[in-house]
Amino acid sequence: MRTLLAKAKSTEGMQQTLLKQAELSQIVGELRSHDDYIVCGHVNPDGDSIGSVLGMSHLLKAMGKSVQPIFATGSQIDEALMSLPGASSLISAEDAKPASCFITVDASGLDRLGDDAADLRRQASFTMVLDHHEVSSCDADICRIEPDCPSASCIIWDVVKESGVAPSKDMAACCYVGLMTDTGRFQYQNADTRAFAEASEMVAAGADVAKLSAAFFQNKSVASVMIDALTALNMTFICDGQAVISWITAADMERLGATKDDCEDAINVLRSISGIRVACVLKENPDRIRGSFRAKDGTDVAAIAASFGGGGHKAAAGFTLHGSLDEARSDVVSALEAALS
Ligand code: 5GP
Ligand code: MN
Repeated sequence: MRTLLAKAKSTEGMQQTLLKQAELSQIVGELRSHDDYIVCGHVNPDGDSIGSVLGMSHLLKAMGKSVQPIFATGSQIDEALMSLPGASSLISAEDAKPASCFITVDASGLDRLGDDAADLRRQASFTMVLDHHEVSSCDADICRIEPDCPSASCIIWDVVKESGVAPSKDMAACCYVGLMTDTGRFQYQNADTRAFAEASEMVAAGADVAKLSAAFFQNKSVASVMIDALTALNMTFICDGQAVISWITAADMERLGATKDDCEDAINVLRSISGIRVACVLKENPDRIRGSFRAKDGTDVAAIAASFGGGGHKAAAGFTLHGSLDEARSDVVSALEAALS
């Protein structure tokens, strides 16, 4: 099966790209046939995004390829992620040189890459997407999108196994971190048999579970603990107690000297509350409001996030709003009331 993408005419006569999945063997064939790569994940990179970028970069280097692992210009990458093998070679998109092949991991559309990385992808003569977010179309030359896959890094791991290259300790550590973080330490709905089976393979290949767990989960800053406490203090129950919403103001962040990373755990404070179906945290930045949703009962929060122009997974999704915190709060409360009624 060579044809990966079928071009079809939409009702308006516009070209629309339909999604066809690439086989692992086709992906490896393409990886062998090019020499010069950029690998990039999504804006606001998380453990899976960086783990997948670095895991894929280790594989490409082992295949003798030239590779620039990049991240969206202006992104902050948290300290634990910067301790991963190969993280010191990460390049901001604004400093990267165009490459003939651009691989997008843990994201699919140009809209999730940031402007500089999106430009680099447009300049590439061959593009590949490896992702686990649900999408209906993909405009890369070759795509593998598995919404049921626990992490994008599991897809990278499958490519490693298919490649015939011996999986290294570094590839294993990076892919393990993507899987460990996207499954919430193997606790979420996506912590399925595949997650445990692939984690076992990664550990067998040298991923150090105790060391990586300590680096990611016993390494909180004081500001982050304070942000968690503020999130608990601000929590407000809505929808007859079925949902909880809280917020972090820009002023609070400044007062506490907190960074974006220090706010990452805030949503987990709310998610942990007994009896809650949906949790939402709003983070006020100087120019926008970032929102995070988590669902505990099968509510599709990706659909609610999509109504605000965002997206993600059924149980974990995010969005950006450009009004005031008050407006964002009232929009989210209305959307949750409609979704949970
Ligand atoms: P978080 O709440 O941790 O920022 O994001 C939860 C999930 O939703 C992650 O998988 C993330 O990639 C995805 N996500 C967050 N914000 C957005 C967004 O604005 N658009 C889309 N498509 N996905 C998002
Ligand atoms: Mn992911």
